[in-house]
Amino acid sequence: MFKFAKYLADKGSVVNIAKNTIRSVSKSASDTSSLAAVSNDTDEPIDIPNPYQKERSICILCKHNIVPDYKNVRLLSQFQSPYTGRIYGRHITGLCKTKQAEVETAIIRAQACALMPTYHKDIDFIKDPKLFNPEKPIRPHKY
Ligand SMILES: [Zn+2]
Repeated sequence: MFKFAKYLADKGSVVNIAKNTIRSVSKSASDTSSLAAVSNDTDEPIDIPNPYQKERSICILCKHNIVPDYKNVRLLSQFQSPYTGRIYGRHITGLCKTKQAEVETAIIRAQACALMPTYHKDIDFIKDPKLFNPEKPIRPHKY
């Protein structure tokens, strides 16, 4: 940059000066126009929707309007660990509180009716598509 400036000074200072004047003139013109634009607008805040607002997430059962039933064993087995039969927590299933409670009561009821196994997942439903990944919970466990 410095070299370039020096070169310009050596070569033709007249051209340089002319360029500078043109630039300054155009700059001042643009400044006045921007000032005019600002003065026309009001300085009051504009009403816009919050850009940082998170999208409301709906749990999968609410989204499809499903009421968990103790006879719907195939659905309930999705919320059960295939290894231990444990009912997955809300941090894994991502259900809302009411639906999670409904699922848990339905599973316990189904197990009491011997429709569902307690300590493992039904072998017929092992290859069902998974609604969530228990290895990667939606949020960390609270304990
Ligand atoms: Zn829900």
